[in-house]
Amino acid sequence: MDSFDFIVVGAGSAGSVLASRLTEDADITVALVEAGGPASDPAIADPLAWPRLQGTAIDWQYSTVPQAGTAGRVHAWPRGRVIGGSSAMNAMAHVRGAPADFDAWARDGCAGWGFADLFPYFLRSETWPLAPSPYHGRSGPVRLMTPSDPHPVARCFMAAAAELGLEPTGEHNGPRMAGPTLNTLAIVEGRRQSVADAYLTPALGRPNLTVLDRAVVVELLTVPGPRCTGVATKRGGKVRAIRAERAVILAAGTIGTPLILLRSGIGPAADLRKIGITVRLDLPGVGANLHDHLLSGGNVYRARRPVPVSKYQHSESLLYIERSAGAAPELTLACVAAPVVTEAFAAPPFGSAYTIMAGFGHPRSRGTLRLASADARAAPLIDPNYLAESHDREMFLEALDWAQAIGAARALDDWREGELLPGPGCTAAADRLAFLERAAYTHHHPVGTCRMGAGEAAVVGPDLALRGFEGLYVADASVVPRITTGPVNAAIVAIAERASDLFRGRKPLAPCHPAGN
Ligand SMILES: Cc1cc2nc3c(=O)[nH]c(=O)nc-3n(C[C@H](O)[C@H](O)[C@H](O)COP(=O)(O)OP(=O)(O)OC[C@H]3O[C@@H](n4cnc5c(N)ncnc54)[C@H](O)[C@@H]3O)c2cc1C
Repeated sequence: MDSFDFIVVGAGSAGSVLASRLTEDADITVALVEAGGPASDPAIADPLAWPRLQGTAIDWQYSTVPQAGTAGRVHAWPRGRVIGGSSAMNAMAHVRGAPADFDAWARDGCAGWGFADLFPYFLRSETWPLAPSPYHGRSGPVRLMTPSDPHPVARCFMAAAAELGLEPTGEHNGPRMAGPTLNTLAIVEGRRQSVADAYLTPALGRPNLTVLDRAVVVELLTVPGPRCTGVATKRGGKVRAIRAERAVILAAGTIGTPLILLRSGIGPAADLRKIGITVRLDLPGVGANLHDHLLSGGNVYRARRPVPVSKYQHSESLLYIERSAGAAPELTLACVAAPVVTEAFAAPPFGSAYTIMAGFGHPRSRGTLRLASADARAAPLIDPNYLAESHDREMFLEALDWAQAIGAARALDDWREGELLPGPGCTAAADRLAFLERAAYTHHHPVGTCRMGAGEAAVVGPDLALRGFEGLYVADASVVPRITTGPVNAAIVAIAERASDLFRGRKPLAPCHPAGN
């Protein structure tokens, strides 16, 4: 049996960071096991093509069970199945989240994961291209940019927000997250930079790193203790066992990681027994705490003149709005230079319309990920339980109010021919909610199915070790106990950066705060 110090499962955002950082130590051997293949489709590198990657061979093509809170709709949940994982098909927005988000984690049983703990890792992960600032890294693998020639609709959107009294901010990852500004993007010389491009590609020549692509981890190998000793992989119909001398690190993402655990008999015992899986560890938190951000397809506007194609990734400005001072911003608006509608509405032609998508930052609804059967080919039961909580419905409505107020502002007069969705007649609260239920889209940020924390609901502790098991760790989006404000990829990279120090046995970087924050 092949043997390595560490087996990292999944070459996505977190796995790419982990494999790269761990193998900086020449005496640590790592096998990185990834179900997908290399990112060879040229569309992956094209920032404009990201929506077209969904439903292709690099997408696991998951979908939710029908959602009572969104008019019984089934939501497609794309996830990357390729070197780079979801960072090879995402929208490239680089948003850390609000300091208060991470501080809440630390207060809630995740010692060592507050904002000051993660801030040095945000810095270590990135290269900021503009003037040096205490808020940004200067020499990290992820190279960032902001649009130098922003879309004219995005400019007017930001001006419209300012017109309504929302003070512009310099950058979402700077001193103030809230306020209109341009997106910070992981695009280098016109091409997507996935986390694999940033971290893994430069490490590929290392003799202590073995990448096994197109290999699906079907099960964890365990011995009584209980202790994890390795993984069973399947590649082209052949099953192969790989041994981990030190640990297996699951970085297969919010869906992939709990699926591996559940299929290995680690999870809620009653559920597993019901479908005939032998229980190795009763761990109720596996697959629980599933949550996600929603955005609405619409508020859509018919434009007075053709809307030019974006020079970047269609959505060049996100806007976060605070509801109370000192708390993390709650409302999210995304200006998209194209019509964005769900399957429930007819889409106007591309180039004829633009969209202000509305969403909220901290959903209270929690759902589950479960196995439908013991058959590994069966699709999982993904139930984010969207909009189950009244708080979430209220925030969604409030975000839509803001979208329409901004959409109607003078600064957008030159672009606005008329509102298409939800449309001028949609004024009653019940109609507006009914619209949102049909217009709700995933913002593609599912997290939480192996939550970090303390107590029975936690799957891993602050050391990221699986509770009740030796030799098994989780470090990816599934450990996020409560979602951060805005897109989550930058936070996943920072989590993996800090995790890599823990796994290497290094002292974590000293906590620090940017000046004045
Ligand atoms: C369409 C889309 C748009 C998004 N837009 C943004 C954005 O603009 N900004 C942002 O911050 N975030 C965005 N996100 C979210 C962000 O990309 C993800 O949250 C992040 O990449 C998750 O990182 P991860 O390491 O947890 O999982 P992933 O990056 O998904 O990696 C998991 C890896 O594990 C592999 N794997 C799974 N199961 C197995 C198995 N059994 N055996 C072997 N390998 C396995 C997968 O193939 C995958 O490569 C978007 C996501 C999507 C899908």
